Amino acid sequence: MALCLKQVFNKDKTFRPRKKFEPGTQRFELYKKAQASLKSGLDLKAVVQLPPGESINDWIAVHVVDFFNRINLIYGTMSEYCTERSCPIMSGGLKYEYRWQDDSKYKKPTKLSAPQYMCMLMDWIEMLINNEDVFPTRIGVPFPKQFQQVCTKILTRLFRVFVHVYIHHFDSIINMGAEAHVNTCYKHFYYFIREFSLIDHRELEPLVRMALGWGGGG
Ligand SMILES: [Zn+2]
Repeated sequence: MALCLKQVFNKDKTFRPRKKFEPGTQRFELYKKAQASLKSGLDLKAVVQLPPGESINDWIAVHVVDFFNRINLIYGTMSEYCTERSCPIMSGGLKYEYRWQDDSKYKKPTKLSAPQYMCMLMDWIEMLINNEDVFPTRIGVPFPKQFQQVCTKILTRLFRVFVHVYIHHFDSIINMGAEAHVNTCYKHFYYFIREFSLIDHRELEPLVRMALGWGGGG
C-alpha cells in the first residue's frame, strides 16, 4: 500500500501544513479582502466576483490556494473514515470512477483507492502552488501562459474530493457536525468555478442536484 510520507509522519488533523500568503504582498491583501467579504455574510454569488481593478489571475491564484487549504482540511478531518477498505476505488457512487494520472509515476490513468488518490492529489497541488514558475509570488513576475489551464485542472480535481466526500462520507460529515461548514465551502467553490467557467459541465454532473437544491444550478 502506497502511503505518502506526510501521511505517515504528519498524523495531525490538518493532514499537511497550510500554504500561506506572505504578509505585505499584494496577494495577501487580496486574500484578506476576499476573507473579509466572506465573513461579512455577503451572498456567496457576489463574493466570488472579481473586485474592480484587480487582476483575474491574482484573484484565481488566491482562490485556488484558499480552496486547496480548506478542502485539504475537510478531507483531513474525515480521512480516518476513508480507508483502503472502505474506499478501494476513488469514486462518486457507482456511476463515477476517477483514475489518477500525472507526469511522473502514473503516466497512464490508473485506478487508485480513494485515500491513495487524495494523497497523490494533495501532493500534486501542493507541488504546483509552491512552484514559482507556475504560481509566481514575487512582484513583477508574470503568470505563465498556461496558468488558467493549470488552475482549471487543479479545481476539477479538487471538485472530485467534494464528490467523494458527499457521496461516500456524508454520514461522517453529519456525525462530526461539519455539514454546514462543508456546505459553505462547497457553495463558495461552486459559485467561484461557475463565475469564471473553470470546470467543464460534465465534471459537475455527480453533484448537480445539490446545486439545484439551493438555486445554484442553471
Ligand atoms: Zn472514502
